[in-house]
Amino acid sequence: MKCELCELIQDQRNVICAEQDVIAAVRETAVTPGQIIVFPRQHFTIFEIVPDPILQKCVFIANKIGMAVFDSLGAAGTNILIQNGIGAGQTAPHFALDIIPRRENDTLPLQWKPQQLMEEEMDTAFIELKEQIDKGFVTDTPKEIPAPKKEKIGVTEGKNNYLLKSLRRMP
Ligand SMILES: [Zn+2]
Repeated sequence: MKCELCELIQDQRNVICAEQDVIAAVRETAVTPGQIIVFPRQHFTIFEIVPDPILQKCVFIANKIGMAVFDSLGAAGTNILIQNGIGAGQTAPHFALDIIPRRENDTLPLQWKPQQLMEEEMDTAFIELKEQIDKGFVTDTPKEIPAPKKEKIGVTEGKNNYLLKSLRRMP
């Protein structure tokens, strides 16, 4: 099956990060300069079938690249987007996560107005989702999220401290 992301791995086109399981490349057709896709080396079609360790690696790499986007491109923000399924605009049959660098006034239409929805529809959606989720699903995620270790959340001095920079960027 022809898959543009599997081909991209072979060609090494625009690849900026090649890990054992995960690849990141700058998109050739992008909505803003420096738009990056992060995706598993192995061909998985959609989000739901990507094994947990690979998914974690994708998010880990996306996080590191997101920092590079802020620091090197001076982005005002990033949108991290997964187009999951044809109905959601997915074009290649290979799971990928997009990092879209944003600039002020770039006019990218990613904001949306909340729709006026019927309360009954909202309640039905909630009940159906809750029922499905309460049936249980297998997860590696601990039920209680452990408190982060102090040294990891500590803010250290220094002009290159990413956390400090992030705080300044917060709206
Ligand atoms: Zn593929």
